[in-house]
Amino acid sequence: MNIRIENLTKAYGDFKAVDNMNLMVEDGQLVGLLGPSGCGKSTTLFMLAGLTEATTGRIFFGDKEVTRVAPEDRGIGLVFQNYALYPHMTVEDNIMFPLINRKVRKDAARQQAYEMAKLVQIDTLLKRKPSELSGGQQQRVAIARALVKKPKVLLLDEPLSNLDAKLRVETREEIRRIQQEVGITTIFVTHDQEEAMSISDQIAVMKSGVVQQFDVPQSMYLNPCNRFVATFLGTPEINIIDVEVLGGTIKCGDVVLRTGVDVKNGTYKAGIRPESFTHREDDHKYKVNSVRMIGRDLLLHLDMAGRDVRAITHSGQSITTGDTVEFSVRESSILLFGSDDKVIGK
Ligand code: ATP
Repeated sequence: MNIRIENLTKAYGDFKAVDNMNLMVEDGQLVGLLGPSGCGKSTTLFMLAGLTEATTGRIFFGDKEVTRVAPEDRGIGLVFQNYALYPHMTVEDNIMFPLINRKVRKDAARQQAYEMAKLVQIDTLLKRKPSELSGGQQQRVAIARALVKKPKVLLLDEPLSNLDAKLRVETREEIRRIQQEVGITTIFVTHDQEEAMSISDQIAVMKSGVVQQFDVPQSMYLNPCNRFVATFLGTPEINIIDVEVLGGTIKCGDVVLRTGVDVKNGTYKAGIRPESFTHREDDHKYKVNSVRMIGRDLLLHLDMAGRDVRAITHSGQSITTGDTVEFSVRESSILLFGSDDKVIGK
């Protein structure tokens, strides 16, 4: 079922937690709602769930407007950060609970709970209590419980926040697998850009209640609409440096970064991703300020005309602090920002 959000606003007095949001989520897609703390992600999700009342605007699930429909009548499954399982009940009873609540017969409910448990791969744990499970297993129970009523929409609010780094990665892959297997339209709230990038069909990046950009992960990464999105996506962070444009040439001090740009002369901020530096003989020489191993790569801090820039290169090279290295910057990857921080040239 597709989801359409039209001019949705949530105001607390003069403050707008969500400000005139418009979004169209296609049937069966997983959309990541991404942004820093306080940007309005959870408020959006809660309005979709019916737990927070919209101030203005409309929400449609398929052709049906649900803006004023009660949460239990929206056909949604909800999963929170803290699992919210009933501690005194077994896993099986937890998963069955929404069905029993709906007066489904016990043996039928048990059968459906078993099928859900199998889907999320916890069918051997049905007789345990939540306290006897790991965080990742508890979250799977919460997902099974959310899906057992066969909702049309799945809403997940920071579902991986309580898990350690390794389990986070495993569980997010698991959520993606389950979501695709069921084919359910899903909204996934997170502040973790890598998490959103890795499992979403599309991402909505929010800032101060406003959607900045809605796009597929890769194209948002390569073509961010403004400085906020460019900076929010990617680790290590994109370099933002002062540059001069003169006669179509972008220069940073004595470093010629690019020629042939169609932007009027002046000073600008430019964005260069650390991975846009490529090692090339006879190119510009940079002094290495520091070297650090990050995973398989080296993170270098280079001196670019007195500015410190981050560059990533593969670790099979012996580069040490104080060395001089030759790098070129991939021209097509340089972003130029206008005075309003919007990308004006690439
Ligand atoms: P986090 O990742 O920290 O949960 P978020 O992006 O989900 O952040 P929201 O919880 O949606 O952010 O909150 C958005 C803004 O609305 C915040 O500035 C918050 O303080 C404000 N807010 C939320 N609920 C209320 C309320 N009941 N009254 C007043 N302001 C509120």
